[in-house]
Amino acid sequence: MNIILLGPPGAGKGTQARILMDRDAMVQLSTGDMLRAAVAAGTEVGQKADAVMKAGGLVSDDIVIGVVDERLDQPDVVQGVIFDGFPRTTPQAEALDTLLAKKSMTLDAVVNIEVDDAAMVDRISGRYTCGNCGEGYHDRDKKPAVDGVCDKCGSTEFKRRKDDNAETVASRLKEYHAETAPLISYYQGTGKLRSVDGMAHIDDVTTSIKTALGAA
Ligand code: AMP
Repeated sequence: MNIILLGPPGAGKGTQARILMDRDAMVQLSTGDMLRAAVAAGTEVGQKADAVMKAGGLVSDDIVIGVVDERLDQPDVVQGVIFDGFPRTTPQAEALDTLLAKKSMTLDAVVNIEVDDAAMVDRISGRYTCGNCGEGYHDRDKKPAVDGVCDKCGSTEFKRRKDDNAETVASRLKEYHAETAPLISYYQGTGKLRSVDGMAHIDDVTTSIKTALGAA
């Protein structure tokens, strides 16, 4: 099963993708993670993306589509792909349709995670991840059971994203409404759109997604 998780920054796309990946052995395809890895590695793509990402803008469609095209050639995608943070524009959605057809893959469902914008700045400003396994935490909502130790892998290294600050989040939300929100009606038109309440507890959101996918 190949699915898209749609929603503004902070909606919980990454969190839910990781849970689904662990439970169902699907593959998380996060363009944000791939671009951050490219920036860290100093590749050509990374050099082009770096300043845009720091400012909370969108990296060009061509670059992002190229990254996804390459990733979809990896053999593990047969396990099923969870698209997280892609597509983010109508040209990207159209390109994904073409890419999937070219690779004989199908899109089974698009899950729109609905949240209140007002809560997103707080959610994003408080979040951090384990530097080793990537498990996500939040200063107030999801602390490790033992302070400073990752629940999942025991690492004591944590990191915060450079773009997770109030100013950049405002730009990212603006980009979401201008460029990404129109994808809701794009996918509504395909009959594949399902909506879930992303303001609920993490586990309840997962249950809603599973239910929504069961009906897909
Ligand atoms: P994310 O981790 O999904 O929040 O993405 C972090 C940043 O990476 C975004 O603010 C954009 O600058 C860039 N980015 C990630 N995915 C895309 C995409 N599909 N299209 C354009 N830019 C993207």
